[in-house]
Amino acid sequence: MSEVRLSDVTKVYDDILAVEEIDLTVRDGEFLVLVGPSGCGKSTTLRMIAGLETVTAGEIGIGDQVVNEVRPQERDIAMVFQNYALYPHMTVRENMAFGLKLADDFDEAEIDTRVEEAAALLEIPELLDQYPKQLSGGQQQRVALGRAIVRDPDVFLMDEPLSNLDAKLRTQMRTELQRIQEELGVTTIYVTHDQTEAMTMGDRIAILNEGQLQQVARPEVCYDR
Ligand code: ADP
Ligand code: ADP
Repeated sequence: MSEVRLSDVTKVYDDILAVEEIDLTVRDGEFLVLVGPSGCGKSTTLRMIAGLETVTAGEIGIGDQVVNEVRPQERDIAMVFQNYALYPHMTVRENMAFGLKLADDFDEAEIDTRVEEAAALLEIPELLDQYPKQLSGGQQQRVALGRAIVRDPDVFLMDEPLSNLDAKLRTQMRTELQRIQEELGVTTIYVTHDQTEAMTMGDRIAILNEGQLQQVARPEVCYDR
């Protein structure tokens, strides 16, 4: 677990000011929802935290690390996207294990244990030997989450992870994600453009508009506005 700190963070693409002087601290173990309309800078913010995008000005810290001073593979971050392409020729077990095998830091037994534990947490142990095409959309999304969970990251970054699911499944997965986040106690930043999603998830909501942070508050406070 780790605190995530953004100090005066700005991102400029050519002549587009995508993110403007953001100050935000996400507490250790907190579930923060970053919400705002399309194009307001949510993905850019998340990608900078992940170190996938450079910071034009300001600083991002995770725990005792400054993001841009740490090589990507040394950051204890896992990211979950909306387009969670699973490897079609690999089983669920192999999909979940793949990142750990690449990392080369874990022996077979450790990898097996981590995959089994993540599958139990996600309630998909019976799917481990199936292939992605045999799974429903919701089950595939769980596997995508599993790939992130097995890495036991300090920080979870999620970019609209539920937006490819139908409404019913989305509602169900919202609750599931909160349960999983709570059980893991992992610091989480969850990006969405969906206000309902924002209001029903997370400990605090950060509202972004045209690259600026408008408000950071608990969900019930946002309701009152
Ligand atoms: P959101 O995730 O809220 O939809 P983005 O962070 O994707 O917003 O985009 C914020 C702004 O930055 C938009 O104006 C977008 O067009 C622009 N932008 C995002 N990525 C790039 C890029 N790689 N190059 C140029 N402009 C970009
Ligand atoms: P999101 O809303 O999730 O950010 P987008 O469709 O805005 O998704 O962006 C998808 C990808 O395209 C991202 O990698 C983003 O950096 C890039 N992108 C977005 N806007 C621009 C832009 N104006 N110029 C170049 N790349 C862009």
